[in-house]
Amino acid sequence: MAREFSTVGVVGLGTMGAGITEVFSRSGLGVVAVEVDDESIERGRGHIEHSTGRAVSRGKIDESEQRALLGRIRYTTSLSDLSGVDFVIEAVPEHLDLKSEIFRELDHIVGPEVILASNTSSLSVTELSVQTGGPGRVIGVHFFNPAPVMGLVEVVRTVVTEPGVIDDVTALADKLGKTPVVIGDRAGFIANALLFGYLNHAARMYEQHYASREDLDAAMRFGAGYPMGPLALLDLIGLDTAYEILDTMYRQSRDRLHAPAPVLKQMITAGLLGRKSGRGFYTYEAPDSPKVVADGITPSTDGEILETRTVRRVGVVGTGTMATGIVEVFAKAGLEVLVRGRSSAKVDDAVSAVRRSLDKAAHRGKLEEADRDAALGRITATASLDDFSDVDLVVEAVAEDLEVKRGIFATLDDICKPGAVLATTTSSLPVVECAAATARPGDVVGLHFFNPAPVMKLVEVVHTISTAPDVVATAREVCRTIGKHPVTCGDRAGFIVNALLFPYLNDAVKMLEGHYASAEDIDTAMKVGCSLPMGPFALLDVVGLDVSLAIERTLYLEFREPGFAPAPLLEHLVTAGRLGRKTGKGFRDYS
Ligand code: NAD
Repeated sequence: MAREFSTVGVVGLGTMGAGITEVFSRSGLGVVAVEVDDESIERGRGHIEHSTGRAVSRGKIDESEQRALLGRIRYTTSLSDLSGVDFVIEAVPEHLDLKSEIFRELDHIVGPEVILASNTSSLSVTELSVQTGGPGRVIGVHFFNPAPVMGLVEVVRTVVTEPGVIDDVTALADKLGKTPVVIGDRAGFIANALLFGYLNHAARMYEQHYASREDLDAAMRFGAGYPMGPLALLDLIGLDTAYEILDTMYRQSRDRLHAPAPVLKQMITAGLLGRKSGRGFYTYEAPDSPKVVADGITPSTDGEILETRTVRRVGVVGTGTMATGIVEVFAKAGLEVLVRGRSSAKVDDAVSAVRRSLDKAAHRGKLEEADRDAALGRITATASLDDFSDVDLVVEAVAEDLEVKRGIFATLDDICKPGAVLATTTSSLPVVECAAATARPGDVVGLHFFNPAPVMKLVEVVHTISTAPDVVATAREVCRTIGKHPVTCGDRAGFIVNALLFPYLNDAVKMLEGHYASAEDIDTAMKVGCSLPMGPFALLDVVGLDVSLAIERTLYLEFREPGFAPAPLLEHLVTAGRLGRKTGKGFRDYS
């Protein structure tokens, strides 16, 4: 039987403490809330009134429930008022000395059976526990921001936390309507440990001018379905907080990927802390405002200043999944498409696949029948590249084999008219290799579509060191014409999305391999704690472990970053033929 809690104490009513107080009171518990002075109490109270008022206006609770909720909270500036509570959580600023002092005091104020919890994001719970005479009753209870909304609670047990305390706290989290995951005391726990390596990587890309802030953020939103881009998220978290978390993680892991990107320190020193100071990677209307306003580096209304080349006729090389999806996208957008396969049979099959897909769209009412017929009428099949002599743009989407691609680019160089844009959809080969196979490297660009091409909005426009600026501008313009969101980046392994995504997925595998948490708990933490569309293991199983391993190897070979080395567990699963959903077994079994 888990113990019953009736009154709890919350120390600190800032961003987290106010939210945590609301969560407790909402589930019927009495709360004694402690702050340093009356002004801070008023600020905390105001925050809770505002937040519950919003819940009333959204119809989530009624006014009498709000009154009862507010009535269950007692405010005080004295820690000794916590003497009668059953459970205390502190949410004071992230300083070890301050938190240690609070634990020492609480140890004398509350009875020996009362559970003492910390909401720390990165400090050692063990360190805090030994400040008390009974470290067995100390535990980490890490809520996510905003606490009333976010469903995850990381329950952090130290090596001495009593099992009964862990059970009581997980039962309490359930009662609060949160999903608890129980883990050991390691910097960053699950969610931050996996999130911050990724955020830091994005900050480094920004620092290296690899892509613009807008494009880095759009890439993760449109290419990976993340609710926010990494730089916007860093601004929300606060760059000073992010720096502290990374620094703590680095000191513990000595993993270079956690060493805070120098740009973070520079921005903090200059007072650019993110949303809370009104400026971080982006500029905001006012401090604490979520509204981004234009500043000196905002792109000019997203229109290209350069003249672009006219693109009306497009040639697509290839008959596979990506090629057929791309043919469909261009034809639907009103462009003439010539599709070339190695035989008439192959290319006819590809056109049939496009027809089936368009039929499905028409059947579902997403496409008018007349538009379907018009789109099909714009597609011409051919078995010869010679027919590409007058296309304005070629998109090569054949197998991921460098020699095959180079051969095609050399042929296109002989056939295509001057000024034609020559694009490759490669996801892992250097675009410059294709450019170097031609005598016109300035006209060669990467157009990395995502699968399924008709659905996914993102296209990475990859420029090599030789690509002409008007070719990049043309590629971006074409993407807009076909309803895609273009982002521009340099010619590096993984471009933006895969380079940010796969090291994070690899870190998750290493976390599993290190027995820190189960695949289930890691997936839950990332889905529920960070609002990602899928947990890392569910995603790896969908992508395919062999495909994932190949991408990770490419990243590792290009950057030689020790942290990018594929986790041995991933290698072993691939060797054993457990490739994910497609083989029925991966990190999980599928029936
Ligand atoms: P905050 O600065 O918004 O709030 C801290 C509050 O504690 C302030 O109101 C301050 O007046 C009060 N305080 C300071 N000393 C106190 C004392 N001796 N007694 C009582 N109150 C005192 O900070 P925050 O963002 O709410 O973070 C609090 C804790 O939660 C930190 O450990 C942080 O790492 C953790 N956390 C933060 C987030 C986040 O996204 N902000 C998420 C999860 C966990």
